[in-house]
Amino acid sequence: MPFFQGKKSSILARFVVAMTALVSVALVVGVLLPLQELPVKAAEASPLVIEDLTVIDTRNGIEIPHQAIVVIGNRISFVGRTEDVPVFNEVRRIAGAGKYVIPGLWDAHIHSLRLSPQLHFPLLLANGVTSVRDMGDACSWSDNLKCLPEIRKWKDRIAEGSLLSPRIIATASYHVENLGQNRDVDTHVLENESRALLVALKARGDDFIKLQLDDHVNPLVFSTLVTQAHLQGMRIAGHLPFSVDLLDPLLASVQSVEHDSGLLPQCSDLLAAFDGRNRSKARLLARADDKRCDAVLASMARNRTGYVPTHIASIGQDWHLLSNTYKSDERIKYVALPQRFMWRFFAYLAVAGTAAEDRPALEAYYRASQKMTQRALAHGVAVMAGSDSMDPYVTHGFGLHDELLELVQAGLTPAQALRAASWTPALHFGLERDYGSIEAGKFADMLILDKNPLQDIQHARAINLLIFDGKLYTREDLDAMLSFTASQASSLSVNSKFLWGMIKPWQ
Ligand SMILES: [Zn+2]
Repeated sequence: MPFFQGKKSSILARFVVAMTALVSVALVVGVLLPLQELPVKAAEASPLVIEDLTVIDTRNGIEIPHQAIVVIGNRISFVGRTEDVPVFNEVRRIAGAGKYVIPGLWDAHIHSLRLSPQLHFPLLLANGVTSVRDMGDACSWSDNLKCLPEIRKWKDRIAEGSLLSPRIIATASYHVENLGQNRDVDTHVLENESRALLVALKARGDDFIKLQLDDHVNPLVFSTLVTQAHLQGMRIAGHLPFSVDLLDPLLASVQSVEHDSGLLPQCSDLLAAFDGRNRSKARLLARADDKRCDAVLASMARNRTGYVPTHIASIGQDWHLLSNTYKSDERIKYVALPQRFMWRFFAYLAVAGTAAEDRPALEAYYRASQKMTQRALAHGVAVMAGSDSMDPYVTHGFGLHDELLELVQAGLTPAQALRAASWTPALHFGLERDYGSIEAGKFADMLILDKNPLQDIQHARAINLLIFDGKLYTREDLDAMLSFTASQASSLSVNSKFLWGMIKPWQ
């Protein structure tokens, strides 16, 4: 009946208009609502003495029992036998018997957002991650050089102690991905363009350049950027395109290769023909070239090119998603709703896009990537733990522990995995005087654990106390950080701002 149909469609139209208006109003209100932050703890008043601990020396992979640690201000002032602790008039003592202490953990590959104080920093600290290398925020995908990563704007607040955050060791430039799209590049034009871009990035104070070029980019584009960055005195890190041969001596100054998905193809003589698709992974493995692989890894060790496999977010993720365990991921409560939706959608596409007959090849590819990490370590490559948090189902803080487990499953001992998240990154980034081990003079960043992490790497999750920048955080404090993020992740304010950040027409 046309009359009824017309009435029905007008009711539907009014309902859609009303809902759109309601969502728009909620979005505007949410965007305007103020953001909450965790209060910053006051410094401890007196020297802190933790007695009779077992120190896990992650640098040498040994445990030293019956040690005392003294913290004054934000530095460790003494590590040694409990009976040798200097005498203080006033002191706060903590019994450490039966407990283990490891250095604050590093995550060498995270991503941040304007909302990281609400969504990420509390999770990182609650998981004992006290130092991070930020590989880019929303600004990193914008080629507007005026868009500055939020973390850089927070640096003053972090330094003055008004913002609670792990130490941001370095922040990436915007992701260099659009240079030399045309494979027939003119060498002079390319050189000039690269130089101009790097000079501009250097002028705005980027800590290092992140390359995220197309997997099939003309290799000349990659080597020109690396060469020009070196000439400008800038560090360069990033994804390794399949078209690039890491044995090229022009690439010697690359500071770190990110992701196993970029490095594994280097271990095959089919590298140049690889297209990254599931079908060609089996062909790539069939043409594995151990000699070439050893040469690539030896050159990385020689050139001090670090390696951050991010198994949990890269080849490992491709494999793990197929098990569908992400559907019952309890940490999803710490993730903002728009991101939950995006992750679910990504996972759906990844699973739907994998044919049943491709699964054995995917598993073999994953196992090969694990083997390569162990091999890289055996060659003396600086293997560093990085989670790539913000990638689907990789939650900040928890993701680093997942990656440590991946490293152990790849064949590293728990001590080697812990070193990849403490001593190795500190040394690789030239900061070993201040970080990376429990030694007098270094920053007082450490985790006191209930169980021995050298027996089981999962014990590194059982944090009894966090000492960060000389301040003490109890288990209750850490649980409060987790609850804070869970409440923020479901709040109107955070979700509206998250959504607005995604859909606003500028960055
Ligand atoms: Zn990343």
